[in-house]
Amino acid sequence: MSDAAPAVSVAKRPADVMKKLVALCKQRGFVFQSSEIYGGLKSAYDYGPLGAELKRNLMGEWWKDMVTTRENVVGIDASIIMHPNVWRASGHAAGFSDPLVDCKVSKERFRADKAPRPAVGAELPITCPDKGVAKDWADQIEKNFGIIMERDGNVLSGVRAISASEVGFFPKGASAPTKTWPWRGYVSPTFGSAFLTEEKQFNLMFRTALGAVDPMAEVSDIIGDMFVFDEALLLANDRKKGDELIAAVRRKFPKEASDKEHPIGKAIEDGNRHLIIRTVIEAVTRNSMVYLRPETAQAMFVQFKNVMDSSGMKPPFGIAQMGKSFRNEVTVEHFIFRSCEFEQMEMEFFCEPGTQKEWMTFWKEARMSWWRRFANYPEDFVFRQHAKDEMAFYADDCYDVEYKYPWGWGELEGIASRTDYDLTQHEKHSGVTLQYVDQEKADPKTGAKPWKYKPYVIEPAAGATRALLCFLIDAYHEEERTTATGEKEIRTVLKLHPKLAPIKCAVLPLVKKDGMPEKAREIIAALLKAGVNAKYDEKASIGKRYAKHDEIGTPYCITVDGDTLTADTVTLRDRDTTLQIRLPIAEVVATIKARLEA
Ligand code: ATP
Repeated sequence: MSDAAPAVSVAKRPADVMKKLVALCKQRGFVFQSSEIYGGLKSAYDYGPLGAELKRNLMGEWWKDMVTTRENVVGIDASIIMHPNVWRASGHAAGFSDPLVDCKVSKERFRADKAPRPAVGAELPITCPDKGVAKDWADQIEKNFGIIMERDGNVLSGVRAISASEVGFFPKGASAPTKTWPWRGYVSPTFGSAFLTEEKQFNLMFRTALGAVDPMAEVSDIIGDMFVFDEALLLANDRKKGDELIAAVRRKFPKEASDKEHPIGKAIEDGNRHLIIRTVIEAVTRNSMVYLRPETAQAMFVQFKNVMDSSGMKPPFGIAQMGKSFRNEVTVEHFIFRSCEFEQMEMEFFCEPGTQKEWMTFWKEARMSWWRRFANYPEDFVFRQHAKDEMAFYADDCYDVEYKYPWGWGELEGIASRTDYDLTQHEKHSGVTLQYVDQEKADPKTGAKPWKYKPYVIEPAAGATRALLCFLIDAYHEEERTTATGEKEIRTVLKLHPKLAPIKCAVLPLVKKDGMPEKAREIIAALLKAGVNAKYDEKASIGKRYAKHDEIGTPYCITVDGDTLTADTVTLRDRDTTLQIRLPIAEVVATIKARLEA
């Protein structure tokens, strides 16, 4: 063992970092595909032994920073299933949906709000998976749209964005289009096609049923009843099927059917059979249907009064929560970046109306410093302020913390100034007053004491599983090194912040004999007793063991060797520099603890 580190040239991030990370996550036990032995479940992931530790450490650091080290923030742990009216009040039941579009050629389904938007005047080539597919798609386009696109290898060209709302087909060399179509300004993300369907809204919340009633049985009973009834009428009167359906719905739901404001009444007015059946099903299941929460935030508004009454907190103060959220995402992408089941870390900070700007500045700084504290490359975390037309109508300011993912900048956390919108909505829907009464202050409008107000809210809302991915990307390094014998080698090392690292210290006997394993066990016992997550490891050569612990991000390795037995000293190897120092066994625990705390 040498004290000198080999010559190193650092390759910050290989181009195929995602491919390598996904493989490493599986091989080393960070993240597995859910239900893999059954072929896997789309967009669901399981965190293995190392991933579970990493996630706990990360979320623990957030909790420590946001809750336990602050006097003015408390935490809650609310249920995932809440009263369905919570989601009606918050707007999620109606509006928590993505505009969905299908490509008419490739059949790719994607979110319109996330699709690429080429500039006016730009060529809109379709990049097909291969030459054969290009031929098929060109034939399809000719048949369905009456144009012959130019084919060059796997690329079809000729379509151009004439304006923000129109595309045209320009045969080779033509200056004017021979055909034009209306356009909504975007193309499909994978192939770049502008041949798209209308946008459809799709609710992202997962629904399930609560209680002993099986909603499907209820639905089939009611619809079954309606149709048995109908069939008799159908035979007797020989009426058209559509009329029969409407007549049956009118008999079963007379009040709702005649109310043009009710979804059933509206659907009958519209005459759309599918919509009529859908609204009937919605009406029948409404009382037993509940949702899996699509965000952790609403519980903080719903429990605002209980928290204030029970804890004596008063504005400015925050309520924080972290945990699982569920969204039936249409586009699941980039490994765990966007999945259907994920974890969030959110806080609602309640402050006096008029002070929201100061608090926004405060929380922006606090949150950015938290992200950068754990990063090797702090410059990869930036703010992006939302434009007015991007913000929810009730918000008066909003910033995203964006991270430089290998595929480009993307959201990691949203920090929104939400005014008093959420408390107002829950007050309206629940009938419970959700305000703070400040006995000391006069109402700025009337000048009279006390001042009763609904606090304004600053909401820093971060993704925990997305954060885990971002810190894995930040940590992933490949270093080309020249060994003592002059050979080139690549060292893969996860430079995770020691506070996040799943295993803090590995204890390695140089060989499995001469009393070294016993000494190593003594050291590990002392580390575990001191609360350090340490692991004993005696498999494979010492070089292979160092390589494995570099790859999983273990910041320190303690090696027991021949000198340990005679001089009671060990080596301490640093993951990032690979430098080793000798130290007495008696100092191991204190040294490791001090380094972890530093
Ligand atoms: P996006 O624009 O990426 O869909 P969003 O604006 O809908 O995100 P928010 O509702 O603000 O996200 O949620 C707060 C945070 O939760 C996001 O910044 C992100 O880190 C995380 N998050 C949201 N949806 C997902 C998901 N499907 N998978 C993993 N993390 C998510």
